[in-house]
Amino acid sequence: MRLSSIKLAGFKSFVEPTKIPFLDEMTCVVGPNGCGKSNVIDAVRWVLGESSAKNLRGDAMTDVIFNGSTHRKPISQASVELMFDNAQGRLPGTLADRNTVSIKRLVTRDGQSLYFLNGSKCRKRDITDIFLGTGLGPRSYAIIEQGMISRLIESKPQELRVFLEEAAGVSKYKERRRETQTR
Ligand code: ATP
Ligand code: MG
Repeated sequence: MRLSSIKLAGFKSFVEPTKIPFLDEMTCVVGPNGCGKSNVIDAVRWVLGESSAKNLRGDAMTDVIFNGSTHRKPISQASVELMFDNAQGRLPGTLADRNTVSIKRLVTRDGQSLYFLNGSKCRKRDITDIFLGTGLGPRSYAIIEQGMISRLIESKPQELRVFLEEAAGVSKYKERRRETQTR
């Protein structure tokens, strides 16, 4: 499974619809301070269900919507779509047969958040379920952010275990058990 491209529209500094392809080997995003490099990573986290505004470097969840600049008015909604190359069939269930999988999230100024899987509306849970246990889940280690390595080194054994369980694919089953017990 590989992230093949991302489409942003109205997300943070990406007011104009923008598509960024990720090539097979390696893609580097370079540019001056404040040009929007980290916003691309925030967008990936956001689509995958990030629900903490702080983790997206904002105060409220609607802060991800383009809020205007000296030349442009604020806009009313933000959306981001991730395209995954699934030629190896690593995604679970009915998605395994699909060569490409699209995951999209949209938010409006009134705070309504919508998720889409291959163009059809779905629940947030449908998205988080796909990635739980792949390293791209909520306890993601596929994205290594600034300060994360030292946090890992200094973490308590119980915290480290969470990452090991995600790598081993156990977290998916633990989450299912937790849900059943809290029902
Ligand atoms: P650095 O090299 O300093 O890490 P960067 O390229 O990672 O910079 P980002 O942090 O991705 O930059 O982008 C910051 C820019 O995004 C700022 O100019 C900020 O004004 C803009 N920005 C963030 N949220 C919004 C928003 N909701 N609407 C408009 N612009 C936004
Ligand atoms: Mg940055």
